[in-house]
Amino acid sequence: MQPIPFNRPLVLETAFDYLRQTVAAGHLSGDGPFTHRCHALLEELLGAPRVLLTTSGTHALELAALLLEVQPGDEVIVPAFTFVSTINAFVLRGARPVFIDIRPDTLNLDERQLEERITARTKAIVPVHYAGVGCEMDAINEIAARHGIAVVEDNAHGLLGRFRGQPLGTFGRLAALSFHETKNFSCGEGGALILNEPADAARAEVLREKGTNRAQFFRGQADKYTWLDVGSSFLPSDVLAALLLSQLEARDHLQQRRRQIWQRYASQLRDWAEENGVSLPVVPAYCEQPWHMFYLLLPSPADQPALLEHLRQEQIMAVFHYLPLHLSRMGRRFGGRVGDYPVTEDVTQRLVRLPFYSGLGEDDQARIIESVRCFRSGRRLQPAARKWRASA
Ligand SMILES: *Cc1c(COP(=O)(O)O)cnc(C)c1O
Repeated sequence: MQPIPFNRPLVLETAFDYLRQTVAAGHLSGDGPFTHRCHALLEELLGAPRVLLTTSGTHALELAALLLEVQPGDEVIVPAFTFVSTINAFVLRGARPVFIDIRPDTLNLDERQLEERITARTKAIVPVHYAGVGCEMDAINEIAARHGIAVVEDNAHGLLGRFRGQPLGTFGRLAALSFHETKNFSCGEGGALILNEPADAARAEVLREKGTNRAQFFRGQADKYTWLDVGSSFLPSDVLAALLLSQLEARDHLQQRRRQIWQRYASQLRDWAEENGVSLPVVPAYCEQPWHMFYLLLPSPADQPALLEHLRQEQIMAVFHYLPLHLSRMGRRFGGRVGDYPVTEDVTQRLVRLPFYSGLGEDDQARIIESVRCFRSGRRLQPAARKWRASA
């Protein structure tokens, strides 16, 4: 019996052609022909004025923090249930994290608690579209606009998702994408910053190029390039852009496969879920999801390690997800305490993500579904699993 990994990186045939082309052309540094093609395609897909590839989703968020001139003492609001980079990018500039709990249905930032978290020092709100299901962007943008606060979407999961028909990543002043190996489209490590206000584009280009106008120089718009601003090096090699382009161009096919995988999980686990008190992902009718992940919310915390162990014995690598940020060592340093964000603390102990990748075959998925269906909630906690929970 072959183990089924949680994720398997995708490499398409076209990737080899593109990689050969880029290496043969000798443009290995950033902002080469493949990078420009990725920029143009993403701008077209999103209808965004400017998109810039970065070396990671984390770096896209760091570039956003630089652009917003986040200063020590500023506050940035993020859900307590997210990846570290959502807040770390701002903490790196001296910001203080202000966490907010998530909605029990979509597991997105609970916009009903947003206004009470805002102070005179709030610099940005960073909603995360969990699993690519849109946050309540009308409410979030309305509150942000009323207080004059920037919105930066962490859209690492949500490329090609939509909220009320509008692409995710086009609601905030800025938005970050990730092309990490675990995302729908990837080049191993990579990301992009979406600039929805044309006025930000020129400066973002400079900050991304070590604080210089090198990009302008290469377009023939300046006769020398020089140091203009703060900045760092956020450009990925054109080799990575070639890899990314091969996947972005195959998006219809890849998304269709992911949709089938998601829908198979949902339809074939629905009755089992109901019998066992398990919740399946909630996707509101006005949210188009990009089929990024499939998760189960089990009835009790003891079920999480029990199901993970049950699947591991079948050589199926399911995983849990984010540990609450406010209870991490860094989060506690900023004052986080048990009980602060009850929905986050509850969900983190009950959520299990099933293997999900574009190349997941029907036979393997049938094996996963069959194994899950053999599981009954309320099993005794395994000793090894108990140890994990104590250290979490
Ligand atoms: C993947 C991810 C990121 C960015 O990850 P990188 O590995 O830096 O590309 C940021 N936020 C969330 C929610 C993510 O899932």
